[in-house]
Amino acid sequence: MSAFVMLNGYIEESIGALMRRTGLFPGLIALSGLIPASIAAADPPFSSTADTVFDIITVDDPSHFTCLSYTGRTTRQMWDKRVDNEFDFNVYLFTAHFDDSPPFDIIVNPEFGSREAAEAEARRYTRPLGQLPLVLRHGIRQFGIHKGNPTFSAGAGKIFVYSDRTTTRIGQNHLEESLLHEAVHATLDRKYRQSDEWIAAQVSDGRFVTRYAASRPEREDMAETALFAYGLIRHPGRIPPVDSRDILAAVPARIAFVKDLLNQTPQVPPAPVPPENCH
Ligand SMILES: [Zn+2]
Repeated sequence: MSAFVMLNGYIEESIGALMRRTGLFPGLIALSGLIPASIAAADPPFSSTADTVFDIITVDDPSHFTCLSYTGRTTRQMWDKRVDNEFDFNVYLFTAHFDDSPPFDIIVNPEFGSREAAEAEARRYTRPLGQLPLVLRHGIRQFGIHKGNPTFSAGAGKIFVYSDRTTTRIGQNHLEESLLHEAVHATLDRKYRQSDEWIAAQVSDGRFVTRYAASRPEREDMAETALFAYGLIRHPGRIPPVDSRDILAAVPARIAFVKDLLNQTPQVPPAPVPPENCH
């Protein structure tokens, strides 16, 4: 079960770091199948989303988050990268409400020890989650929080994060950007990352925007590229001109693809009136 989930359900951010340390790109790229090695070998302008310094989404940007309510303790399965397995936990269950979409669950590992500590942790993410465009956020069904320092991971509908890593990301002004990457996995991957249109855009571009994307073109290219594309399209002043030119030169077809996506309005049910204990 765990190996199956590991290989098929969740996308591992940490592989990129491993690639960088070991310099294994060419062999792995050649094995990846979809993209010819000659194409993938062109040098991407950046290492990975996690390593870039651009503050594409700032803490002061508006957010669709409205309030957080506490539902109580309940049993939920949580994938935990620290042990590479999935367990039932008696989690703290919260519901995050937004003004443009239905709410979703935030589940907090009981290791946080009290409702108050769990709520304080959950509130570190709520405003940044509301900053994500609906087209990236509407697929999130459950947001899980553990302690510890593993990199974030996500599968269809689910994101798991680790509080020490979050502290690092906040210190880098990069929590919002990391959540955008994971939201792509949660919301868009299943429909688009292996679609004919995306693969045609990859082939047309002939390059990748990060080495992490190049190392895992099937799993990570869309999540990696989407952030840079989002920055160029929605906040063009936040990526320096020289870097903007590099990104445009590397992946113009994928930027056009993401632009089309961002122009879509997902059909979601209206936001319900939050419960009275929501604040
Ligand atoms: Zn990823």
